Amino acid sequence: MFAEKSRLRYRSLSQAWGLMAYISNALRQLVTARAQGLCEYCQTAQTIVIEMELDHIIPEAAGGATEADNLCLACISCNTFKSAFQTGVDPQTGAVARLFNPRQQQWDEHFRWSVDGSQIISTTATGRATVARLQMNRSLAVHARHLWVQAGWHPPKAI
Ligand SMILES: [Zn+2]
Repeated sequence: MFAEKSRLRYRSLSQAWGLMAYISNALRQLVTARAQGLCEYCQTAQTIVIEMELDHIIPEAAGGATEADNLCLACISCNTFKSAFQTGVDPQTGAVARLFNPRQQQWDEHFRWSVDGSQIISTTATGRATVARLQMNRSLAVHARHLWVQAGWHPPKAI
C-alpha cells in the first residue's frame, strides 16, 4: 500500500515537473493486457517483480508519442537500463544496432532462453545489442532466474 502511494506520488510529481507524460488508466490497462503481464524485453512476469512500468519505445525526449503503438510493458530494470537509448552495441561485431522494438518485432525472432532458463540468448544484432544495453543477463538476474526455475515460475508464462 505504501509503495503504491509512493509510486503514485512520484508519478504525479514527475508529471507536474513535466518529466513524464500522463498515461491514462485505460491506456495503462491496454498495454498491460496486451503484454499479458510480461516485461516485453526480458519477459519477466509481473507476478514476480510486482512493479511494472510503461516504456516509451521511442523516448519522449526523441519525440516518441504517448500512445499504444509506442508503449510497451517493461520491468523497472529493463526500463531503467534502456533509459532514453534507441540503440546499443552488438558485442559480437562492435557495431551499433537498434534496440528490440516490441511493437514491430517478435521476441522469438530475436531471443530465446538458454537450456536451463537462466539466460537470454540472441542470434541477431538487435537482440545482442538489447541484451547488452538492458543488461538482461546481469549476474543478479541470472541468479534470480535460477531460483524462479526451481520454484516453477520460469520460463515465463503469460498471466
Ligand atoms: Zn525486463
